[in-house]
Amino acid sequence: MKITKVTSHILQHDLGEELGYSQQWYAKRTAHLVEVETDEGITGWGECFGPGNVALANKTIVEQVIQPMILGHSPLDRELLWNKAYNLMRDHGQKGMPIQALSGIDIALWDIAGKVAGLPLYDLIGGKCRERLNVYGYGMMLRKVADLAGAFEEEAARIKDAGFRATKMKVGLGPREDVKLVEAVRRGVGDGFRFMVDANHCYTTNDAFYVGRALEELDVYWFEEPVAPEDHAGYRELRAGLKVNISGGEAEFTRWGWRPLLENRCVDIAQPEVCGLGGISEYMKVLALCHAHFTPVINHVWGSAVAVATNMHLITAMPDLPGGLFQAQPMLEFDTTLNKFRDEMLAEPLNIQGQVAKNKGTVALPSGPGLGIEIDRGFLEAYKIA
Ligand SMILES: [Mg+2]
Repeated sequence: MKITKVTSHILQHDLGEELGYSQQWYAKRTAHLVEVETDEGITGWGECFGPGNVALANKTIVEQVIQPMILGHSPLDRELLWNKAYNLMRDHGQKGMPIQALSGIDIALWDIAGKVAGLPLYDLIGGKCRERLNVYGYGMMLRKVADLAGAFEEEAARIKDAGFRATKMKVGLGPREDVKLVEAVRRGVGDGFRFMVDANHCYTTNDAFYVGRALEELDVYWFEEPVAPEDHAGYRELRAGLKVNISGGEAEFTRWGWRPLLENRCVDIAQPEVCGLGGISEYMKVLALCHAHFTPVINHVWGSAVAVATNMHLITAMPDLPGGLFQAQPMLEFDTTLNKFRDEMLAEPLNIQGQVAKNKGTVALPSGPGLGIEIDRGFLEAYKIA
């Protein structure tokens, strides 16, 4: 079997309202899917992390930089091809967009491997470690409304009522305003319900301590990306000085990026992004590295149904750490804001929201060979911008 073509599909739709996180506002949803075709009619799908114009640039890397390196090779030679592409791009970027581009291709190669073997991805990478997956629903994006705290309080209550096991909010207005938003979310979900706070690295270490102490008082479960991903010393000080769990890693790449993050003991909870850090081949190495440092992993999930399905397989196959009768379980991250590429792009939708509502915040394992998904081609064409 030989790879005959690699295509990036960039999809986009309007959100109808500007949403924000601490770094920017956005009004459009983008998805970057990668399709790898073979001479035997088997096609694999993957996804690259990176919204908006980043996706357009990554398409060029996928099709014009990496495609020529892998055409004519067997799609089953995943390690060979990953290392060939990485080695040839190393001088031009060991993190960031080249690795995001490589991620989507690698995921598609695993989808092909599963289809060839007739096995779901989770069986290829180690088999089932659980029968159902817990889901947390994130929302509370920044919005341009008069009473944001009031809006957050209502939205948090809605997400809880929808059946999710936990929820997550954004901050980013500045430390003092942010604490008011967190108080509003605690009012919305009531005492005892688990929620997390995501800063998308907008604080200095000192500001993060101010917010982090308030999060402890409000019984927040984790404090995500409090400081810049490069600031390992800041992470380390926060982790040593705060009781709230410090989480991060969605902006880290490959085993070589993750190694110092873990060695410096930066995070209580690691959040690798499979569509960005190098794909499934590299995710498995990062997972092993996290577990070698006894750091639990709760994957970062963002994107279309391809990304969600990929993560469902990875979480299915993730071993318990450290192990025990009442072992804390990983959760599937689920964005509750509008995303047609997640909800409407598959011939048979994943229906995460419907399952969560009916089954106490859990979803069934994916089935079918590879990622177990079938893309609706008509839908793809309707939203394709490049
Ligand atoms: Mg985040």
